Amino acid sequence: MQTDNDMENRLLDSTDKIKGIGAKKSQSLASAGITNVGELLRCFPLRYDFYRFYDDPAKIEENGKCVFYAEYNGGATKQYAKTVGFFVRWRIKTGTRDVLFTWFNQPYVLNSLEKGKRYCIKCDVQLKNGVYQAINPHFSSTEQYTHSVLEPQYKPIDGIGKSELVNFIKKALDYAEIDDSNDPIPHLLRQKYDIPPYGKALRSIHTPQTEEECIRANKRLIFEEFFMFRIRQKLWAGKRGEGDASAIFDKKCIDEFKSLLPYKLTGAQQKALDDVARDLLSKTPMNRIIQGDVGSGKTAVAFAACWMTKCAGYQSVIMVPTEVLARQHYASFGATFGNADIKAGLLVGGMKQSEKKSVIEDFAQGNIHVLIGTHAVLEERVSSDGIGLVITDEQHRFGVKQRMSLKNKGRPVNMLVLTATPIPRTLSMVIYGDLDVSIIDEMPPDRIPIKTYAVTGDMRERIYKFITKEVKAGRQAYVICPLVETDDESKASVKRYFDKLSKNELKEVRTGMLYGGMKPAQKDEVMNAFAAGDIDVLISTTVIEVGINVPNATVIAIEDAEKFGLAQLHQLRGRVGRGREQSHCILISDCKGEIAVERLTTLVKTNDGFEIAKSDMRLRGQGEYFGLRQHGAQLFRFGELPRDMLIFTQAADAVELVASCGDELGEFYQRMYHEAKKLNEEIVFN
Ligand code: ADP
Ligand code: MG
Repeated sequence: MQTDNDMENRLLDSTDKIKGIGAKKSQSLASAGITNVGELLRCFPLRYDFYRFYDDPAKIEENGKCVFYAEYNGGATKQYAKTVGFFVRWRIKTGTRDVLFTWFNQPYVLNSLEKGKRYCIKCDVQLKNGVYQAINPHFSSTEQYTHSVLEPQYKPIDGIGKSELVNFIKKALDYAEIDDSNDPIPHLLRQKYDIPPYGKALRSIHTPQTEEECIRANKRLIFEEFFMFRIRQKLWAGKRGEGDASAIFDKKCIDEFKSLLPYKLTGAQQKALDDVARDLLSKTPMNRIIQGDVGSGKTAVAFAACWMTKCAGYQSVIMVPTEVLARQHYASFGATFGNADIKAGLLVGGMKQSEKKSVIEDFAQGNIHVLIGTHAVLEERVSSDGIGLVITDEQHRFGVKQRMSLKNKGRPVNMLVLTATPIPRTLSMVIYGDLDVSIIDEMPPDRIPIKTYAVTGDMRERIYKFITKEVKAGRQAYVICPLVETDDESKASVKRYFDKLSKNELKEVRTGMLYGGMKPAQKDEVMNAFAAGDIDVLISTTVIEVGINVPNATVIAIEDAEKFGLAQLHQLRGRVGRGREQSHCILISDCKGEIAVERLTTLVKTNDGFEIAKSDMRLRGQGEYFGLRQHGAQLFRFGELPRDMLIFTQAADAVELVASCGDELGEFYQRMYHEAKKLNEEIVFN
């Protein structure tokens, strides 16, 4: 009988404990982030290849991957063709359509096949000239199948062969001996919701016997993810609400704020502002998320919240994901409030120690009312008893842990989250749990809709001419590349494009470049120069994606557009169309894949973030069992909403059930909470 610890230990054992994995292979695994047995088992397939089973090759009746048995009759021959050299051929006479095998570059096949032996054959057949033809089929005398197979396809790992990895994972499954009694989802719940135990689920994922089994295992992972997420939501909700968080100010204060703005708030902004004001006045700490498409004017509402908080005598913290954005918010704070009686401080990683120190001191003493920064503001040293409000902008970049640490400073604080990730209201109520939601679903007036085009690379000449023309008319532009630099000439990188464009196509205009790895001071300089109009065309990575506001920019050209997620492209597009001129978004891609084309077409067709989110969910859902998604704001690793809404509801139910089960629960919760943290660290909702 194993104890808790034994099993934990086995999953935590280093991979070289497994027979066949030596120091070298273990090192290769480690380079891919797999250091122990548990991680190896959580290296999930990207997809499965489906092989249809036939008990007789005569029954094959459609193209595609299949598996069947045949006895070798000794009839294979070696043949030669000028174009391909030597190849081996064998034809099975089936009585219906024959099956014709061809092996290229494998002359040894001829001698390795044994006459009279029955082979299990896996191959991909295509009907050509009246027979089913298969290239380089896989013959095995040991494998056995009695039904269709799902063959997991893993992400390649350097230094480890495809079948080697499959083999390692199989051995790890045996080695780990996962015991159901330690399952994080208790037996009772597994039964109620028809969910396989963890060990079984892992086995089904790596070595599924049927598609049904694979789907059930996947359901288990999704359920567990939602379950943990829900528990964490619940625990977290329990942590607030103690104490009085009210920030009292009078109505005059709101009017003062509005008089500072050079424009009138939209109805939707006003509504969000009312929600926030009500929350601030109430004793219960605010826990609100403001959803609004890019450019909908969330910043004004955030600043209003800071102003009200200051009127009530408290301080605010605004956390943003990038330094560039922090500096921009800081600057627009200055522009909005001018000489009004409110002082902001900036705190970002790139500042001098002495500068940081003085900001931190000023904040602690209450001389700074609003601290704007990146995760630097989360440093231990930053504290003040006067914090009344914490705002996080573009929350999906922040982990929950980070946010918790801020929340726990001083008295209970009001939390406001701003996000441009559009999720339908009904859905957000469920996944954000007890967060209150305000939606800004109205754009500021006299915005001209952005024109979006999807084009191929041969349009570049024209695009650069167009950009030059716009610049001559006094406007600015972005050119976005997915990479900073690469040896691969066929891929767009910031450094190569900058070199090339500034010497040739865009030599008549002033170009600049920007990417994440630059020194903060340098980045700052470039961004400021662009904002000030001293750079006409900014060649950049997605550093500029989140929130950057330069209203004079009217063109954004995005290279290798298929490399970006839909949500990300929509965010990038939101960098233009912020001023009074017609703006243009040009998506450049030579990719012909069906899904890629459909994604770009979606952007051409609509500017509505909610529509785009819906297509994104639909297009991402196809053919993906598991969530190793490369793009988009990832909500969950395995689950996907609304697709998995039913499972989400079950998981939420399950948590309620557990929660109503009495005393031991405290302990159970805590344990689950730690599990949840381990699993979901990067998941970003609270
Ligand atoms: P986001 O919601 O993407 O953060 P911002 O807050 O950056 O959007 O606002 C985008 C631009 O719209 C800013 O230049 C801002 O000054 C302007 N803006 C915001 N609200 C209004 C409004 N009610 N009327 C006109 N312009 C507005
Ligand atoms: Mg913003």
